Amino acid sequence: MKSKSASSWSVSQSEELYGFKRWGSGHFGAGADGFVNVQPLADGREIRIMDVVNESLGMGLKAPLVIRFQDLLRHRVTQLNECFRKAIKEEGYDGEYRGVFPIKVNQLREVVDEIVEAGKEFGYGLEAGSKPELMIALAMHEGTERLIICNGYKDHDYIRLALLGRKIGKKIIIVVEQLAEVDDIIAISEEVGVKPLIGFRAKLQTRGEGKWSSSTGDNAKFGLNTAEILFATEKLRAAKLTQCVKLVHFHIGSQVPNIITIKNAVVEATRFYCQLVKMGFPMGFLDCGGGLGIDYDGSRTNFESSMNYTMAEYARDVVANIRDICVASNVAVPDIITESGRAVVAPHSMLVVEVFERINKRETLGVQHQPKVKHKVVTDLELLLKNKAKLGKLERFHDAIQKKEESFSLFNLGYLDLENRAAAESLYWQVCEQIAKEIRDSGYVPEELQDLNALLADQYVCNFSVFQSLLDHWALKQLFPITPLHRLAEKPSVNAILVDITCDSDGKISTFIDLQDTKDHLPLHPLNNKPYYLGVFLTGAYQDIMGDLHNLFGRVNEVHVFLEPDEPNGFYIEEALAGSRVSDVIDGVQYQWEELCRKMKAQIDAATKKDLVKPREGVRLVEFYEEQMRSKTYLNIERTPKKKPARKKA
Ligand SMILES: *Cc1c(COP(=O)(O)O)cnc(C)c1O
Repeated sequence: MKSKSASSWSVSQSEELYGFKRWGSGHFGAGADGFVNVQPLADGREIRIMDVVNESLGMGLKAPLVIRFQDLLRHRVTQLNECFRKAIKEEGYDGEYRGVFPIKVNQLREVVDEIVEAGKEFGYGLEAGSKPELMIALAMHEGTERLIICNGYKDHDYIRLALLGRKIGKKIIIVVEQLAEVDDIIAISEEVGVKPLIGFRAKLQTRGEGKWSSSTGDNAKFGLNTAEILFATEKLRAAKLTQCVKLVHFHIGSQVPNIITIKNAVVEATRFYCQLVKMGFPMGFLDCGGGLGIDYDGSRTNFESSMNYTMAEYARDVVANIRDICVASNVAVPDIITESGRAVVAPHSMLVVEVFERINKRETLGVQHQPKVKHKVVTDLELLLKNKAKLGKLERFHDAIQKKEESFSLFNLGYLDLENRAAAESLYWQVCEQIAKEIRDSGYVPEELQDLNALLADQYVCNFSVFQSLLDHWALKQLFPITPLHRLAEKPSVNAILVDITCDSDGKISTFIDLQDTKDHLPLHPLNNKPYYLGVFLTGAYQDIMGDLHNLFGRVNEVHVFLEPDEPNGFYIEEALAGSRVSDVIDGVQYQWEELCRKMKAQIDAATKKDLVKPREGVRLVEFYEEQMRSKTYLNIERTPKKKPARKKA
């Protein structure tokens, strides 16, 4: 019973190790059976995530798989709105919260649908940053009360579309980002005969922290500086549109880790707001943009993948600071808008990947080749491994590096044969392994040796593409919590990094969340020739649309899950979306799959004529090629059977 030796490990140790309680906001945790559970509403009703994976498998949807927990999405919308309601009540604030969801953070129809539906009772609106997004916002938005905020660069038709919304009575506010837009808005509103609602995006001096800190300040891409705001007001006054100026907007960047930055920005923007009121503009709205963070690593710090505040604290600070400045300026408080995107959608979806292979140095290098005649460099390394001289760890490490390099030079000069080179490599790794084992139990570890664990880590090969599914990890080093979805009662005894199946050495995950800074490897379970699934959590913001087709790995399978107490496993899959087929991605780069099949058939026919293949086999090969056109782009993992397999239809 091999698993007996692991019985000193408990599920709660796994829960602690992977940090579910810290980053999970009460939604994720480990069950006593060693499986990861989700509580979409954080109310005790649990879904075992592996049940969703297995049910999806039954529907023919293998990993990589995106799972959306629609109830969790709804929960976040409610939570955000309720935090602001509560803050407004507690602070005795005399205005309302009128939040909008920025569509760019996740444009998928089911996501926007759910948000619009969940936001109904709160008058929660939508934000658009481009013409296509505005087209969605206009049509998906219901009624005339909820806001639509129009940000981003605008051409004339974008402005016409916004005014179309105005015409049919919607509260749609055009936020001026560039001075030139003011002239366009004046001219076009005259042309279509409707008065616009206008806001100004202010270029604040308050600088954000974190990855998106350049969203504000003098060199920001968006917004009006103080002089430009004054020019804009003059233009609008001259056009007799004074009554149309309603809003001040700012956005200091996404994932703001430090609440102090947010407070400072709110204070600065409220000053702008009060000044504009005093200049005689009607105003009424202060829009605090996005930036509300997600605690990806669960450390509650101002580290860039974390945040040192809660959603409730954010709401209280926004409300209280606006009130304080308005009261001091003797100005009526505005209704408050935020465009929180990441905070609303990130937790609702996750990516499931299957580990199917590992690349490991120990297995091949651990078995030492025994050269017939050992070179001195090899015997030197052997002595180092035996360590009769009782050298310290650091000294042994340096000596081992020196010997390894010596062996490569000798090989290049022709003095070392393949057998001796293999022996040297393998001895070097064994010495490293020995040192790594020793430092595991010792207190202080010199910096040079700290990297040994990462150097010795296994590479777990996962059936997915970082470029398609976790682009922000590749592009911005954004971290996501990653854990096995099962086997949590077993001790994770292997240090691993994750590599994807693209032909790109950048296609990997080698930085992981940690309470202090980051980790360069993830403790995982040894592979046991059965499927091993990992979950990448909090992926609902931005990742769905940023992904690209590197190596032509296309969209992944996707299921939308709802809680349902009447179902045996407590959930049902409402929608199952199959990922891209080979023909889809091929058509996306200007081929036509039919034409490729024709070309292939012609070549196989020609080969048949030349008797390279038998006619019957030729027919089979054509069929096989055509069948693969309809297959998915990711690996179809089949565990190697004992006997030679008969070819099966997919
Ligand atoms: C991207 C963006 C947002 C959303 O930001 P989050 O940090 O995801 O909440 C909101 N407003 C504007 C103008 C944006 O560009």
